[in-house]
Amino acid sequence: MIKAVVGANWGDEGKGKITDMLAQEADIIVRFQGGANAGHTIVNDYGKFALHTLPSGVFYNHTTSVIGNGVALNIPVFFKEYNEVVEQGVPAPKILISDRAQMVMPYHILFDQYEEERLAGKSFGSTKSGIAPFYSDKYAKIGFQVSELFDEEALKEKLVRVCETKNILLEHLYHKPLLDPEEIFQELMEYKKMVAPYVCDVSLYLWNALKEGKEILLEGQLGSLKDPDHGIYPMVTSSSTLAAYGAIGAGVPPYEIKKIITVCKAYSSAVGAGAFVSEIFGEEADELRRRGGDGGEYGATTGRPRRMGWFDCVASKYGCRVQGTTDVAFTVLDVLGYLDEIPVCVGYEINGEVTTEFPTTAMLEKAKPVLEVLPGWKSDIRGITKYEDLPENCRKYIEFVEEKIGFPITMISNGPGRNDIIYRNK
Ligand code: GDP
Repeated sequence: MIKAVVGANWGDEGKGKITDMLAQEADIIVRFQGGANAGHTIVNDYGKFALHTLPSGVFYNHTTSVIGNGVALNIPVFFKEYNEVVEQGVPAPKILISDRAQMVMPYHILFDQYEEERLAGKSFGSTKSGIAPFYSDKYAKIGFQVSELFDEEALKEKLVRVCETKNILLEHLYHKPLLDPEEIFQELMEYKKMVAPYVCDVSLYLWNALKEGKEILLEGQLGSLKDPDHGIYPMVTSSSTLAAYGAIGAGVPPYEIKKIITVCKAYSSAVGAGAFVSEIFGEEADELRRRGGDGGEYGATTGRPRRMGWFDCVASKYGCRVQGTTDVAFTVLDVLGYLDEIPVCVGYEINGEVTTEFPTTAMLEKAKPVLEVLPGWKSDIRGITKYEDLPENCRKYIEFVEEKIGFPITMISNGPGRNDIIYRNK
């Protein structure tokens, strides 16, 4: 059986922690999309880790961590992270890499930087990890699969062809140094040495694992609102962030994905540009940012301060719906314990009308939040393990949100650690 852990919002909902927690009972953890552009922060017995490309299952001996074909695989970054985890005392994780995963090429990162420079103030707020150029090339059919490393002659030829077109852009659009296919080939031969022991037909491996009754966890990156189709286009990421894409990005049957655990944070945060209706500013935002997450709301990859806002029922209802949510994990609730009153965005006012349905981007830009204010619980809820033991106003907040989004909140996370979780039977 397959479970997916995905985000309802803009990312940074705490998926890493939920995956790490659910991985205790899983056999295989699979990354199926995205690349090194976003990160998960995980706190466990080994310490605190910021993972960008490694699946969150790497901390267990009993799990196999898999890079699916849908991932933008940055090989040197992947192995740097792998080595760092091992150096910090984690037993060498068992990993597998899809032979169909495509590689982030050194020039993807350069093109990402050059394009951001060219767009200057109008940029998309890219993390400059090469993700957009990578997926552009994948769909333009000039990307490189890991399997291509193993046919050196064909690889050389294709590199010459691809560099020709890249060099036209470098010379005439960006005015930057040109690419040398031979140099890239040598670098790819280094990549080959690194990945060779781990490459396999991941889709077949997972098919066989399912037949043996193994439990597979699909680990999503970012959230619904960053999906290129259903998100706030064009301020989105370049690969689908939805659980449904897990079937494609891992190569598994869609009907095997039985549980879709959508992670929703108890307040909002976003990185990069784009409409953010329930955003707050000034001292109110600074305080939430400082207290947020585990040590503040700053990007795991870039260290950038995140934009902050109140919980957005409109965006979250939509975010849960497009994921096909079976369970909501409501996270970072403990952080709100300092507030006397907690505003919640319950509707969007657009051109004088209030809606609770999430609109397309142009309309979203016009939306003003309709807020409802709930009483705070003014206490520290960390350490509580039973739903009934939560303060009444805290339960009311959860139940209010649950009613507005229309999906069952079955897990409540009240701290960054593996065991800071309250299960609720629905
Ligand atoms: P992800 O990308 O969705 O995995 O999210 P991030 O890792 O970027 O952000 C989540 C942050 O919140 C991390 O620093 C976690 O350690 C932390 N975190 C996760 N769940 C909780 C929680 O319930 N309470 C608190 N205080 N921090 C949490």
